[in-house]
Amino acid sequence: AANPGCRRRALLDGAGVDKAALATALGSPAPFGQSQFAFMRGNAFEAKVKADGGTELTRLVAERLGATPPAPGEVLVPDLSAAGPEGRTARTALALREATEAGVWALLDHPLLALEVAGSPAYLEPDAVVVRPDGRWTVVEIKSFPMIDGSADAAKVGAAARQAAVYVLALERVAVRTEGAEVDHRVLLVCPKDFSNLPTASVVDVRKQLSVTRRQLTRLTRIEDIADALPEGTTFDVEQCSGAELTAAVESVTAAYAPECLAACELAFHCRGRARTDGAVEALGRSVRGELGGLTTVGAVLAAARGESGDPDDP
Ligand code: SF4
Repeated sequence: AANPGCRRRALLDGAGVDKAALATALGSPAPFGQSQFAFMRGNAFEAKVKADGGTELTRLVAERLGATPPAPGEVLVPDLSAAGPEGRTARTALALREATEAGVWALLDHPLLALEVAGSPAYLEPDAVVVRPDGRWTVVEIKSFPMIDGSADAAKVGAAARQAAVYVLALERVAVRTEGAEVDHRVLLVCPKDFSNLPTASVVDVRKQLSVTRRQLTRLTRIEDIADALPEGTTFDVEQCSGAELTAAVESVTAAYAPECLAACELAFHCRGRARTDGAVEALGRSVRGELGGLTTVGAVLAAARGESGDPDDP
């Protein structure tokens, strides 16, 4: 959703390439990632939120979405383990159907959902999905950034909403095949309260993010079309190829670098380096690119500004 026009990313994601490993092999490791400490802290918080057989989490869902909370021990926590991603998505769909048919509260801990992206299945793992007795399914995202006085960093909430909208979209695919089920377009964002380790939650309406994601998914060029244009024998196998071969393979697919990539794609350092070497104005931001129209490189802009190209009377 952060860069739908990038064919390179569409192809790599569609082919299931580990972009972090690829970026390292290209000599430009991913610019982001969590420290081990932050990772462990996030995991500990998530475990706390889901403790007691989901009682606290379902209580938060009930309280924020206006339902009667379940009594302790009344929440079903189905086992979702199965072999392979197909097995796990089928197990998730079955657990959702069983809980909906039974009309009970259920907490699905790390369910697996599938969504077709540019013609290939992508597997998604929300932190949790809660099934309510009335058949409504709610996506729960557990984040470790704090909610201070009831509100959190807007950029982080926005990113969480975009992420949750993709889960809602994938859940809707399961809901249409499940009688009596309905996916809530409001998701529950659970964060630590103020500076404590106590969970608090807020409801985020993701209808806008849903329609943006739907539109972008239908617009994505199909992977087959991008793959067809590749030179024969192109591979992104980091084990078998040298850095030079991988660079050539990556460069054979066009990219659409923008500074936003730095927060959203593992290949960002590589693509930024290329954009800068080429003098591409995209490296300065999408708005700059938009302002400059047909002038696509810094060199062309300077030449025009100095009156060396274009109409010298109208620099
Ligand atoms: S970093 Fe590169 S591959 Fe990733 S989205 Fe940006 S331009 Fe595309």
